[in-house]
Amino acid sequence: MTKKAIVIGSGAGGAMAAKMLAKSFDVTVLEQGKAFKPLSLPLEQLAKFRKTGLYFDERLIQLLLPNMRIDRHPEMVMVYGRGIGGTTTLATGNAVRADEGLKKIGIHLDKEFDELYQELPITTDHQNRWSPITKRTFEVMQEMGFDPQPMPKLLRPKQCKMCGHCSIGCPTGAKWDTRELLDGIKVITGCKVTHIDIDDRQAKRIHAKKGLQQLTFEADVIIVAAGGYGTPEILRQSGIECQPRLFVDPVLCVAAPMEKAHQDHQLLMPFVSRREKYIISPYMDWLSFFFNKQWRKPMDSMASLMIKLADVEQGDVHHNKMKKTLTENDHQYLKRGVEDCREILMRMGAKEEDIFLGTLNAGHPGGMLPLTATESETLHSPLLPDNLYVADATILPQSLGLPPMLTIMALAKRIASIISN
Ligand SMILES: Cc1cc2nc3c(=O)[nH]c(=O)nc-3n(C[C@H](O)[C@H](O)[C@H](O)COP(=O)(O)OP(=O)(O)OC[C@H]3O[C@@H](n4cnc5c(N)ncnc54)[C@H](O)[C@@H]3O)c2cc1C
Repeated sequence: MTKKAIVIGSGAGGAMAAKMLAKSFDVTVLEQGKAFKPLSLPLEQLAKFRKTGLYFDERLIQLLLPNMRIDRHPEMVMVYGRGIGGTTTLATGNAVRADEGLKKIGIHLDKEFDELYQELPITTDHQNRWSPITKRTFEVMQEMGFDPQPMPKLLRPKQCKMCGHCSIGCPTGAKWDTRELLDGIKVITGCKVTHIDIDDRQAKRIHAKKGLQQLTFEADVIIVAAGGYGTPEILRQSGIECQPRLFVDPVLCVAAPMEKAHQDHQLLMPFVSRREKYIISPYMDWLSFFFNKQWRKPMDSMASLMIKLADVEQGDVHHNKMKKTLTENDHQYLKRGVEDCREILMRMGAKEEDIFLGTLNAGHPGGMLPLTATESETLHSPLLPDNLYVADATILPQSLGLPPMLTIMALAKRIASIISN
């Protein structure tokens, strides 16, 4: 009889693990959210209501984009996906190999990355579609010695309308996300896993809620991939302790008015400059545009740059309540990033006094059950039951300050192959 595997979560790690395991297991995915639906109204129409004061709280975005979840914390806003495809449906499609931390502890995923480059539509072939503002920003950053490089994208460029909607639901299907891995795999949606019974180093039974129903599931192998926010909750409720090493890769945008720049109609993050501990990339920050009063400027007449920071791995999450305070070190690097961005914008013609900041937010939670050198062969923490693996951002050993999806998928591939062999 074919063995059963249950995968909890359908984001970067879960969907990839499910696809790989489906070659030798009868796989079921349990997903808390529902099918992904893109933003329901045109942005131009929504922008007209900004003056009314209707957009006073970022969490309201869920009314228009139900798969996007936002939690407000004292220092920043957390953004993550709930639904088939997890947070990958909200991603800007960046496909970056970010395995420095894994290599340091002896985990080499060359084979898995090679396979991903073969299997997925990863391309930098979008440069010929860049708008004048993107080209200008690229040139300025080149002149400044920032070494900008076109961003590898999970994208079918011919289908892309350059509408700038990558993170609120690609309307043409040009952007790839992990929903495409789940064809033919059984996915139970609206199914929130609460905990797992563990006995004698074996994960025995999964407990979940679906509406008012209490459900239980059994399987030979269980993969927990509920994301850097969801997985620690399930593990702790099952008696497995995690570490207060949460990282989130905070994002801060720096922007300026720029007449008819039309950055709102451009691929998000078309290129990237890697600095020490952070990256800089052009990014129309829709969250700030709608919910930050300083951003009440015409949508087509501003230029915005994103700083994404590799923060110190220090923080925790309990019942969706995040405890995270940026360290002095984090603040120093963010400050440096802001100075870089100011300089770039001024060279592009912005006036110093007109430059404004976005809302500090983050969307890369992870790190609370980090892999160590002793687990470099097994990718399995000794704290876990023998038949339970974690395959998502929770096992990343350090913050990346870079897009993590590709690296999480490479890890999920390796884990699936360890389980199958
Ligand atoms: C706006 C935005 C843009 C981004 N852009 C990029 C990008 O361009 N490139 C990139 O590499 N990364 C990007 N990221 C980050 C990337 O999407 C995430 O790091 C990645 O998806 C994390 O993968 P994961 O498997 O750990 O978790 P997720 O992809 O978040 O998947 C977790 C899944 O588990 C489900 N779940 C949670 N709890 C439970 C439970 N109790 N029971 C059942 N199911 C549960 C969730 O609903 C979700 O579907 C972006 C993030 C954001 C917020």
